[in-house]
Amino acid sequence: LSPFDFQELKGNIRVFCRVRPLLSDESSNADTKVINFPTSTEAMGRGIDLLQNGQKHCFTFDKVFMPDASQEDVFVEISQLVQSALDGYKVCIFAYGQTGSGKTFTMMGRPGNANKKGLIPRSLEQIFETRQSLQSQGWKYELQVSMLEIYNETIRDLLATNKSYAMENGTSGKQYMIKHDANGNTHVSDLTIVDVRSTREVSYLLDKAAQSRSVGKTLMNEQSSRSHFVFTLRISGVNESTEQQVQGVLNLIDLAGSERLSKSGSTGDRLKETQAINKSLSSLSDVIFALAKREDHVPFRNSKLTYLLQPCLGGDSKTLMFVNISPDPSSLPESLCSLRFAARVN
Ligand code: ADP
Ligand code: MG
Repeated sequence: LSPFDFQELKGNIRVFCRVRPLLSDESSNADTKVINFPTSTEAMGRGIDLLQNGQKHCFTFDKVFMPDASQEDVFVEISQLVQSALDGYKVCIFAYGQTGSGKTFTMMGRPGNANKKGLIPRSLEQIFETRQSLQSQGWKYELQVSMLEIYNETIRDLLATNKSYAMENGTSGKQYMIKHDANGNTHVSDLTIVDVRSTREVSYLLDKAAQSRSVGKTLMNEQSSRSHFVFTLRISGVNESTEQQVQGVLNLIDLAGSERLSKSGSTGDRLKETQAINKSLSSLSDVIFALAKREDHVPFRNSKLTYLLQPCLGGDSKTLMFVNISPDPSSLPESLCSLRFAARVN
């Protein structure tokens, strides 16, 4: 059975759990074992148990990746989903979890280490390779990339050339208005969209986006973990002999950290930030839950993130949620929250 048998009852939504390894500075305080899962990737299964105060909490997902699962092991399980974007599907892959749980590692990987490349570079490599091999069958693909960040319910264009112009509602008057047309295409006014022809070009843009994220960080005292990063690849293919056409979209989203920040302790900007994150993550959960349950009303409009991704979440689009968790006992309460969040949408 393929990992993506999207005809199942649950519809086009899958949830994978990934437990990262203990980091070297964590191993000392980690002698209490609080997470149970098969100890090797060979036994890669679907169940994961958490022990809290002697109580066992059991969860089942479409797949659970052990700490020893490599980036390649993970990519093998999603490559078909990536492929379906070339076949004309709209695809969203999210990474959800508390800060430090491995979201960015899963999505981007570790820069400069080819073995540790994450889903974004691997997906692009696969897409460019496939595009090459489909040429002989008459297919011509055009690929376009945009990258944005949603912070406090405002969009920031990470590929804008002039940084001062990159902030929604800034002095430049850029609005980044989101519009969906009748064909299910999303237009964000003023957003930079770049034609790409090679993985090298995309890597260059990813670096540029990373730079503009870190600029925002110092200027606005913002941390990238407090914003959602949305990478979008638009794919349009034409077959010159059969005149067939396909339009696919691949969205890869590194979500803001899901940790619960105490509301009582935060004031001013920090409180606003916390509320914005809580709102958008709970809206995402509500939307995915409503879609999984095939409810008539799906509350897409409750957050910028869900509204932006609306055409790529409903209909015959495909969604995969990674729930990333840390194996460190001190993260147990947050891990439990993340697994509960994911179990709700699973
Ligand atoms: P997040 O984006 O959720 O805040 P990161 O991806 O930055 O978390 O991960 C936190 C730390 O753990 C980083 O140093 C990262 O390199 C490391 N890490 C995360 N997942 C893995 C993994 N599967 N294997 C090895 N190191 C990992
Ligand atoms: Mg991160």
